[in-house]
Amino acid sequence: MRFNRIRKMDISNGPGVRVAIFMQGCPFHCKNCFNPETWDFNDGNPFDDETIDEVLKLCEMSHIAGLSILGGEPMHPKNIEGTTKLARMFKEKFPNKTLWSWTGFTYEQIKDKEVFNYIDVLVDGQFVDELRNPNLKWKGSSNQRVIDIKKTREKNEIVLYED
Ligand code: SF4
Repeated sequence: MRFNRIRKMDISNGPGVRVAIFMQGCPFHCKNCFNPETWDFNDGNPFDDETIDEVLKLCEMSHIAGLSILGGEPMHPKNIEGTTKLARMFKEKFPNKTLWSWTGFTYEQIKDKEVFNYIDVLVDGQFVDELRNPNLKWKGSSNQRVIDIKKTREKNEIVLYED
């Protein structure tokens, strides 16, 4: 598994100042994807325990509200093991900071994965250029959903995140 880059301070992917990691590799190839450099599963850098340590260290800063895991496709079968390990370790270490993630899969396609024990908010669905709207918060096209995972699991139906 590989990752594309880490942002030490990110203010555009979730609330507050966050650490963001972009995983490498995405099979969806959405038209006008904002991140095509993340498509190739062989590009980027090796994702290993050192990467996790680096991300967790960055998250220690008191001004960091949480971690955002993007891509690329963090939930692809080639990536989900590493994504889950990072998510698990992040929540163990920082139970009061939030974990957000973005995926091109729908929540229904992947909802049984362990990673949802740790994710607070999931933005799901592929980017659809025809449905692009720059005024949408946290998502690029109107088909995507910003899902409150804890409430969704409690109610067993999709509950959207509210600021
Ligand atoms: S799912 Fe995301 S990263 Fe993958 S091609 Fe679509 S917009 Fe790009």
